[in-house]
Amino acid sequence: MAKKQFKAESKRLLDLMINSIYTHKEIFLRELISNASDAMDKLYYKSLASDNTGLSREDFQIFLEVNRDARTLTISDNGIGMTKEELENNLGTIAKSGSLLFKNEQLKNEEGEQPQADIDIIGQFGVGFYSAFMVADKVTVVSKAFGEEQAWQWESTGADGYTVSQAEKDGHGTEITLTLKSNTEDEAYDEFLSEYKIRGLIKKYSDYIRYPIRMMVEKSRPKEKPEGAPEDAAPEYETYQELETLNSMVPLWKKSKSELSEEDYNNFYKEKFYDFKDPAKVIHTSVEGVVSYTALLFIPGVAPFNYYSKDFEKGLQLYSSGVMIMDKCADLLPDCFSFVRGLVDSQDLSLNISREMLQHDRQLKAIASRLEKKIQSELLSMQKNDRDAYDEFFKNFGLQLKYGVYEGYGAKKDLLADLLMFYSSTEKKPMTLSEYVGRMRPDQKCIYYACGENTERIDKLPQTELLKEKGYEILYLTDNVDEFALKVMHDYDEKEFKSVADENLEIQQTEEEKEAAEKLAEENKELLELMKGALGDKVTEVRLSHRLKSHPVCIASGSDMSLEMEKVLSSMPGGEDSFKAEKVLELNASHPILKALQKAYADDKEKVKAYAQLLYNQALLIEGMPVEDPVEFSNAICDLMV
Ligand code: ADP
Repeated sequence: MAKKQFKAESKRLLDLMINSIYTHKEIFLRELISNASDAMDKLYYKSLASDNTGLSREDFQIFLEVNRDARTLTISDNGIGMTKEELENNLGTIAKSGSLLFKNEQLKNEEGEQPQADIDIIGQFGVGFYSAFMVADKVTVVSKAFGEEQAWQWESTGADGYTVSQAEKDGHGTEITLTLKSNTEDEAYDEFLSEYKIRGLIKKYSDYIRYPIRMMVEKSRPKEKPEGAPEDAAPEYETYQELETLNSMVPLWKKSKSELSEEDYNNFYKEKFYDFKDPAKVIHTSVEGVVSYTALLFIPGVAPFNYYSKDFEKGLQLYSSGVMIMDKCADLLPDCFSFVRGLVDSQDLSLNISREMLQHDRQLKAIASRLEKKIQSELLSMQKNDRDAYDEFFKNFGLQLKYGVYEGYGAKKDLLADLLMFYSSTEKKPMTLSEYVGRMRPDQKCIYYACGENTERIDKLPQTELLKEKGYEILYLTDNVDEFALKVMHDYDEKEFKSVADENLEIQQTEEEKEAAEKLAEENKELLELMKGALGDKVTEVRLSHRLKSHPVCIASGSDMSLEMEKVLSSMPGGEDSFKAEKVLELNASHPILKALQKAYADDKEKVKAYAQLLYNQALLIEGMPVEDPVEFSNAICDLMV
């Protein structure tokens, strides 16, 4: 059976194209400039191959011209140009890419030989040109192919087709004139005639096109003073036109590190990422491999004002062959490192048709996972070699690292464990877990921590007394997420994390100590049971404790859910009553209060019940938890006094 060709309804196709491929109209300029750059690259490659063109890279340039009265913007290049046939084929056929063809031919020619040049031509889909119709009513292309005598003009007002006619043009290359659409209520197309806007777009998308992009700009200067004018007369100004190059051409990150000073990096960072403070750390790295890329990353010196809010958007800029493809590519950064700013430049990305997105994220994933390790190792080296800077960094972003441990069920805990720091009871400043473990006593099994609002309060917690007396170091956890993060980690270097409120602190006891404790518990069994009965469901147990020194009571946690976690969870919306930690009331076995309780038990059992309530409420207060019934508590104290 004879195969029939699909017929595309080109009008509709063009419409569809123009209005649905791109999200931002402004990218038309990026597309046209990329085409111009490609056209010059092609001629340059040709000159390399035949060596008789007499052209070098320096001869090429892109020129922009604005005519406000005619509402036109013209983009010219002195690249390879197009013959009449090429104009028809390339611009008259949607989705035909002369550039892709060129690239493939070049690659074929070079097979087996040393490639002559890096072919990183940008175009490949054959649609970019049509983006001009997003902003223009009419597009006029005048082009003269290199080595031809005759120039040709292609003109179109969009959907209703195009005309091709003979034209005049000096020299080879292409000149594309856009007649901008009339302004509408929502869209001011004439903004693309403003020098300021054009400069901004070039900086944003095309700053690293390797050929100069030039434009006549209006400037002003003081006029020379007429003879005899008084010394202090205010100068008069005049305007004049000057040709200016709008792009920086060579990307900073493509230069070698040895060429760049700290100041170069810092200035680049502040200008590009709108920060007023120098970065805390610069990471400049190039990788050759299955996916080759260069990355230039910065750890900010301050957290952006909206960093810990929903508005904050993470991501790195993504460049492909010097053209910016995406401003905030989120997939390049894990959440735990969302504070990192910077960019990645790679030629190995397969882009989708609008070049706003990537087609496969395989390459992206490969880059992201290498960057993640790189960021971690750079932070570790900062921790080791410049502790003050690391302390400052941790103040800014430590919280994010701790969230990072907790999120995703601990998927990133190994990556992050060594980056964490917590305030140490002995060192009186934030310490890493490995520093803690390095100082552990020979008999110590666990990494102890205590939770509270701030370090001063934790310092006074009854549960920390015995541990401190025995010389154990305790990490003070003051952020809500801290204990959750440690629970997710479970241990560090095989040392289990243990809350000072845990039932079993695993402190070594001598045989005598153990016997004495058991005996005391046995003697007071009935007293403790009576107290437990009086407190009902509030506690799971009342017992004697040896962890306390000066304090009469404390609350220990009898389950995995700690009091701190109960506080955090119940402060969340809807969490009021759903989370309850199991509480154990512990009495200090060597406190005079025990004698008082024993006496009451002998004289008046009702009194024991009242004492139980009082002691329980006291323990809650020390923990920073609300007393369940403040009025009753206050009355009970008065009853005792009267
Ligand atoms: P792409 O650049 O993805 O190939 P375009 O629709 O932007 O697709 O362009 C189609 C083709 O038109 C290009 O592949 C190229 O062959 C040709 N072309 C576009 N602009 C120019 C130019 N300024 N000079 C020479 N050829 C051009």
